Amino acid sequence: MEFLPQDIDNYVHEHTSPESELLAKLNRETHAKVMVPRMLSGHLQGRVLSLLSHLHRPKKVLEIGTYTGYSALCMAEGLPKDGVLHTIDINEELEDFARKWFDQHPKGNQIIQHIGNALEIIPTLADKWDLVFIDADKSNYLKYYELVIENMNPGGLILCDNVLWSGKIVDPKATDEDTETLRELNRYITEDDRVENVLLPVRDGLMAARVL
Ligand code: SAH
Ligand code: CA
Repeated sequence: MEFLPQDIDNYVHEHTSPESELLAKLNRETHAKVMVPRMLSGHLQGRVLSLLSHLHRPKKVLEIGTYTGYSALCMAEGLPKDGVLHTIDINEELEDFARKWFDQHPKGNQIIQHIGNALEIIPTLADKWDLVFIDADKSNYLKYYELVIENMNPGGLILCDNVLWSGKIVDPKATDEDTETLRELNRYITEDDRVENVLLPVRDGLMAARVL
């Protein structure tokens, strides 16, 4: 999933602040013990999420797709004292694993986990969001975007991960449902008058849409 030539990619990582010890441990344990560890955001994207969160100081964060908790911890870094991060995952087997890491972080008590289908849980949260990270099942990305866009505070930021889909997004032969949904999402967001957006070519593509 590396888009950059290896030596440039190495250089980028070497000139980015390192992961905290906790995040490095979580990264290693995910690779050792959990299925599909490449889903974890990782060092570079984690620092981008942390940077955006620090700049934005969001009071209400929503994450769709907790997995082992790496990206939640990165975004939690920028939470103010009265900020809360809600994170949803459908896989109940990951709940305790993620909680174990949240509990070791100074802001872990500001992270609220929800287990279940995000399509059903998001409407029950009935909050106004400052920062949303969409990173669950790709075929529902448009639905997630529609569910949150009307509940964003002005100036809020919606991030959608993996929108380059390992390059399949520009491969005309790729016509599977996930790729088609991601194409439609990228087009829809770019044409959406409610937001200003940038597709950041970070890792597997991070769409950033700022709500006007
Ligand atoms: N954000 C994490 C990675 C998320 S991986 C990180 O960057 O480290 C995607 C996660 O979405 C998986 O853990 C999967 O269980 C979850 N998921 C898939 N479909 C879902 C759904 N319908 N509702 C909630 N979570 C879902
Ligand atoms: Ca992802």
